Amino acid sequence: MTYKILLLPGDGIGPEIVAEAEKLLLAAGDKFGLDFSFTRGLIGGSAIDASGVPLPDETVALARAADAVLLGAVGGEKWDRGPAHLRPERGLLGIRKALGLYANLRPALLFPQLVGASTLKSDVVAGLDIVIIRELTGGIYFGEPRGVETLTDGTRIGCNTMVYTEAEIERIGRTGFDIARRRGRRLCSVDKANVLETSQLWREVMVRIAADYPDVELSHMYVDNAAMQLVRAPKQFDVVVTENLFGDILSDCAAMLTGSIGMLPSASLNETGFGLYEPVHGSAPDIAGQQKANPLATLLSVAMLLRYTLGEAAAADAVEQAVASVLQQGLRTGDIALPGERVLGTAQMGDAVVAALRGGV
Ligand code: NAD
Repeated sequence: MTYKILLLPGDGIGPEIVAEAEKLLLAAGDKFGLDFSFTRGLIGGSAIDASGVPLPDETVALARAADAVLLGAVGGEKWDRGPAHLRPERGLLGIRKALGLYANLRPALLFPQLVGASTLKSDVVAGLDIVIIRELTGGIYFGEPRGVETLTDGTRIGCNTMVYTEAEIERIGRTGFDIARRRGRRLCSVDKANVLETSQLWREVMVRIAADYPDVELSHMYVDNAAMQLVRAPKQFDVVVTENLFGDILSDCAAMLTGSIGMLPSASLNETGFGLYEPVHGSAPDIAGQQKANPLATLLSVAMLLRYTLGEAAAADAVEQAVASVLQQGLRTGDIALPGERVLGTAQMGDAVVAALRGGV
């Protein structure tokens, strides 16, 4: 069987890091007897330049025909002055919505070799390995009514609506339990049930579906406390599941525990397990085209793609081990190098991971 992968390089450093991901997938294919075929599509600023919109219909069609999507990043100053619906980031929101990618998985894993990169004390973060699951297609980012209005007395009011159906909560809740089952079997549901009705329903649904997962320990935490606990004692968590707005904020907070944005992968999944995989960082226009980007977040996104959509756990493990191995060898890109350490370029780092994968070290 041939796995069809859609590559969406996007803008800035996107093309450089996605090129490394393609090399790695081919190497993983050789090693594990997997066949990959690649198509390429446009999204973000490059799509605006080529077709006038950040998400051409053709890109959505290509994604629907693929088994999985690997995205670089979108955005850049060149497109920031356009109207809101013609900004590169609209391409991202659009593809998530079009493909029903409601579950955003963000692991925050600290490689032991990079413990010094975190701004937190090493005993707080050493050995950190948690996953934040954010609901991605509901809540206040999409709820109606929304907008800014002027009242008859001239007062302007802004309004957004936090809304969740029971079915939306159950769907992301079950994703949380399923992921927790594959890991440490502990799920913390984060809400604000002391104030918000949406959260009261959220908690009720979580408690109801927990009966189907007796092997997973469910706990609840208010979002303000969760923010505090993430920086106080992050290792108390295994898997955290939460709604869109809370997840947006907490996942960035968790990501930064590891100290290096160039190391963080993510997955956005729909009900069938189809997924879009991308690094957490943006298009880094300041270093674009200079072979300075760290490709490891994208290569770790490849591992997630192999694990969560293709079900190729052995290949996923091997990719993660190859990344750990290059770090163990002391190989670094500029963002994770300490003063005096030799710095590799993007393709050199990609080649080193491929070599580690082929060598099986
Ligand atoms: P950014 O993540 O692009 O960059 C922040 C800093 O981190 C920069 O100094 C950059 O050089 C560095 N950096 C990021 N990725 C790196 C990597 N792989 N290796 C080494 N260094 C890396 O965030 P920003 O500067 O706030 O945004 C730049 C553009 O990216 C904006 O247009 C923004 O809208 C867009 N953006 C896109 C996404 C996405 O595509 N998912 C996410 C965030 C921001």
